[in-house]
Amino acid sequence: MTRIAVFPGSFDPITKGHESIVKRAMSLFDSIIVAIGSNSTKTSMFPLEKRKLWLEQTFASCPNVEVVDYSTLTIDLCRKHGANYILRGLRSVTDFEYESNIAKMNRMMEPGIETIFMLTLPEFSGIHSTIIREIIKNKGDVSQFIPQGIKLK
Ligand code: ADP
Repeated sequence: MTRIAVFPGSFDPITKGHESIVKRAMSLFDSIIVAIGSNSTKTSMFPLEKRKLWLEQTFASCPNVEVVDYSTLTIDLCRKHGANYILRGLRSVTDFEYESNIAKMNRMMEPGIETIFMLTLPEFSGIHSTIIREIIKNKGDVSQFIPQGIKLK
């Protein structure tokens, strides 16, 4: 069976944490679909086209990583692409509590899709897109938190 994983998120903006999860997970899956979701409860700082471009640039050298956007349920995106796994990164217990509920409900809706959690590397566990956005709003330098070579302009 081909192992296809969807890595969903808002990526507003992409961080070194996101990059690290996808690159570490590459050896576990035949392909990874990085999926930018339009979340009904979130308005983004950066437009979809830019978030997509930065993801594409970050994973340009990874032939088995594809970037898509979607505005459906994540399990429906998985079904559309024949993906049998949802990949999520875990930074903390707070992430776990939130993520485990989503994973349980996804499983009840689609038992054929497994959610796989990968622990964040310690050096990236403090990196949050929310905090990056606050730093940007206050004109700070976020370059150490985002993938090398990415210019948030
Ligand atoms: P969402 O809006 O769905 O939380 P994010 O773009 O914030 O989307 O995150 C997408 C995925 O990346 C989630 O699984 C999240 O836990 C994970 N993630 C976010 N920040 C980090 C980080 N610093 N290290 C590892 N994983 C992370």
